[in-house]
Amino acid sequence: MYDLTGKVALVTGAGSGIGKASAIKLAEAGAVVVVMSRTAEEVEATAREIEAKGGHAQAKTADTSDENAMQELVDGIIRDHKRLDIVVANAGINGVWAPIEGLKPDEWDKTIRVNLRGTYLTIHHTVPHLEAAGGGSIIVMSSINGTRTFTTPGASAYSVTKAGQLALVKQLALELGERRIRINAICPGAIESEISDNTQQRGKEETEVPVEFPEGDIPLTGGKSGKAEDIADAVLFLASDASRHITGTPIWIDGGQSLLR
Ligand code: NAD
Repeated sequence: MYDLTGKVALVTGAGSGIGKASAIKLAEAGAVVVVMSRTAEEVEATAREIEAKGGHAQAKTADTSDENAMQELVDGIIRDHKRLDIVVANAGINGVWAPIEGLKPDEWDKTIRVNLRGTYLTIHHTVPHLEAAGGGSIIVMSSINGTRTFTTPGASAYSVTKAGQLALVKQLALELGERRIRINAICPGAIESEISDNTQQRGKEETEVPVEFPEGDIPLTGGKSGKAEDIADAVLFLASDASRHITGTPIWIDGGQSLLR
């Protein structure tokens, strides 16, 4: 059921964390995986890791928020692999977390541009090819922030993008359903990755809402963050035929964290 032999997948932000783990998982199931991010060295390392395990990968560099770069990327995939079946719109940043009056317009715009415009462009350019392949699966990496959790200090721009991604998933599930393209969202809680390198936090004390949690704020693990592989397993499920009747659905993967905060 998890056999993806003959399928071609694109994973954006596949250079580290959740995207990398997802790309490895899809390749293990037999898909040819185009691993893409802004940084050549990291996606080349992901591709090498996949090939060392006997899988097939191609490393590509682009900025998901750049229209021309995304067009070129997708044209290249079709030229090289002739089809596209699975799209994991995962690239994203935390950006700046700050009190709203101190959050600068450029900082707001950057988070919106990478997380929302990037997701839109990824879907915009790939949908015609998923349709040409007879249908497909799109998986959008949202978050507990903006969908269930609103207590992360200063994360207003980030939460807006993650809520927007979920709205997009639901809207497009209807628009794309007749073309046999499924689209779902994964909403991770705290997951070990490199994302904290892309986070700038200011004025935490001013925006923090005091809440007391019982023993650790992730009930299932006593407070320990999840692993990227915990998310990758769900990406594989949503990419595969095992989820054939699921579309327009968020899956929260957070050890129960978002039910507390
Ligand atoms: P990460 O920083 O480890 O990886 C992000 C990847 O995206 C990197 O390869 C980076 O180079 C790439 N990237 C960033 N901006 C890009 C752009 N404009 N164009 C192309 N590539 C770009 O982060 P992660 O934690 O694995 O996050 C992946 C996704 O999961 C994000 O959308 C994030 O919002 C979401 N998420 C993460 C967590 C968490 O706790 N780690 C929780 C909820 C949601």
